[in-house]
Amino acid sequence: MIHFDNSYARMPEGFFARVAPTPVAEPKLLALNEGLARRLGLDAGWLSGPEGVAMLAGNAVPQGADPIAQAYAGHQFGGFVPQLGDGRAVLLGEVVAPDGARFDIQLKGSGPTPFSRRGDGRAWMGPVLREYVVSEFMHAMGVPTTRALAAVATGETVWRESGLPGAVLTRVAASHIRVGTFQYFAVRGQEDALAALTDHVIARHYPAANGPLSLLDHVVARQAETIAHWMALGFIHGVMNTDNMAVSGETIDYGPCAFMDVYHPDTVFSSIDRGGRYAWAQQPQIAVWNLAQLATCLIPLMGERDAAIEAATKSVHGFAPIYQAAWRRRFGEKLGLTEAADVQPLAERLLTMMAQQRADFTRVFAGLADGRARDEFIDRDAFDAWAADWQAQGPDPDLMRHANPVRIPRNHRIEEAIAAAVADDLGPFRRLFDAVTHPRDARSEWDDLAHAPLAEQIVHQTFCGT
Ligand code: AMP
Ligand code: MG
Repeated sequence: MIHFDNSYARMPEGFFARVAPTPVAEPKLLALNEGLARRLGLDAGWLSGPEGVAMLAGNAVPQGADPIAQAYAGHQFGGFVPQLGDGRAVLLGEVVAPDGARFDIQLKGSGPTPFSRRGDGRAWMGPVLREYVVSEFMHAMGVPTTRALAAVATGETVWRESGLPGAVLTRVAASHIRVGTFQYFAVRGQEDALAALTDHVIARHYPAANGPLSLLDHVVARQAETIAHWMALGFIHGVMNTDNMAVSGETIDYGPCAFMDVYHPDTVFSSIDRGGRYAWAQQPQIAVWNLAQLATCLIPLMGERDAAIEAATKSVHGFAPIYQAAWRRRFGEKLGLTEAADVQPLAERLLTMMAQQRADFTRVFAGLADGRARDEFIDRDAFDAWAADWQAQGPDPDLMRHANPVRIPRNHRIEEAIAAAVADDLGPFRRLFDAVTHPRDARSEWDDLAHAPLAEQIVHQTFCGT
């Protein structure tokens, strides 16, 4: 039994389409996140029982749920699409956790909706398990993110280039409201809807905001912090379209996302990102671009137009200083230095050296606390010269150990775990999940998962979930 309270389903007509998930042939629980179930005040025993699994597969709509597919638009790789929407997901409803925090419970891969266009509304097991493990790693590292409550195999085949086993992910988010949700109403000139959405988002995410401009300021600040987190983990989202940017500031829509092994700022993994629009180093600029789209949507609500444009522009320009301060804080912690130290030049020198020498991002930073970072470089003298200047600042090893994961969900390990799961062996997936959700824990049994890929293990490209 779950107590739902569905505030979004009470929004005006046009915000969503009411649609139930489509039942699947043979649901089988692949993973249940007991820690998250506790956080939400849900009974993990019930969730993993027949009624719970039926809900998580979309085979039964529990009492109190009010399933909807949300409407949104979005810029995809810079090109505007006026109607996207949940084409393969339904929001079952919202739950209020014991501490009063409200969460969306969404099924992803739950069958067609009025927004499916030509898609089948389904997901295959690969992207479901990828999102499950990556989002929970991000959470373990303190990055604002949607989370994964469960993954269920459907017992059905999903057709992509070949037949693949289907799955449904249960995603938990502060909300699924995107920059693209605002765009959906803005492009239709629906100011009343925009105002209602603005009020909803303020009440739900930014109660301190006192209007559309103030809301924009808050979203800008939240996004700047989130992107700085990504940068500090070598994370590349891969599809930073405006429909994949949540106004809550949570990382959302883990598609072809990946973490860098070898450090290079231009790294891109997504097979569809040919121009490198969403490369690692581009992410802050792209966030600003997306926030400018949000600003454009909010301007009609801000009163006199010229003044509104000026204020909104200033708000979006507020990203840079907040981001830079967050970057210095994040990379400062990675170097074991507090804000007082001269972080920026030290961090930049280290990154430049890493790029030149093709050093592994995660291993270099993890190695700083235990003296093994040097081993990651070919030119050890260059590293030693840098390290002398760094040591002179008095780095704190505990700060470093907290900021730098020993282990990340590396691409080759994720693919290995997916391949095994497809062949009915969930062992590698479970092991990877345990290891990366204890990312600072240097346990010897997980040593192999901290290794960089061998040449033949390197993953060069990742693919969308579609
Ligand atoms: P994404 O690439 O996940 O950000 O999705 C972009 C848009 O395509 C969203 O509107 C999705 O709902 C839709 N979409 C992606 N995959 C499918 C699918 N298999 N069936 C229907 N719609 C999909
Ligand atoms: Mg998306």
